[in-house]
Amino acid sequence: MSKQFDKSKIEKGVKEILEAVGADLKRKDIATTPKRVAQMYEEILDGQFRKADDELEVILEQTHDEIILLKGIPLYSLCEHHLLPFVGKAHVAYIPDKRITGLSKIARVVDVLSKRLQVQERLATEIADVVMKKLKPKGVMVVIEAEHLCMSMRGVKKPGTLTTTSVVRGVFRTNQKTRQEALSLISS
Ligand SMILES: [Zn+2]
Repeated sequence: MSKQFDKSKIEKGVKEILEAVGADLKRKDIATTPKRVAQMYEEILDGQFRKADDELEVILEQTHDEIILLKGIPLYSLCEHHLLPFVGKAHVAYIPDKRITGLSKIARVVDVLSKRLQVQERLATEIADVVMKKLKPKGVMVVIEAEHLCMSMRGVKKPGTLTTTSVVRGVFRTNQKTRQEALSLISS
């Protein structure tokens, strides 16, 4: 993998796609499409070359040992199978062990990891991994609900269908009561 975003290569590729589908590249609006698409990809795949770890600032805090939940973090990602968006929400719960982070930092992690070519299951796993690695909490739970346009626009064509995935680590895995508590906080 090259370390830099190659916009000119995307431009070339988009031009070929446009030619292949019979678009008129001489038309003013379409002539500038390859450039626009390359710019757009650079923005929506901004996480490809960034480390999500860097976003999670650690704050030492001795006393808090209850569930901290970030609910409904908006998420826009691109499925690696079809290059179509999946859009939804992430919920991230953790129980700290002397380390917490600013509320916006977890949303930043979700953002960086979403702005990559992804599959929903891996996205949830990667979010959980970063939280585990940086905060070393007693446990973490990540739930993602998303609509995949590759399912809504094509294939089985079921618009509005939400796919839910969850990843649990630590105490959320071993203790059913704790997991249940987090789930009811998420759904309330
Ligand atoms: Zn897909």
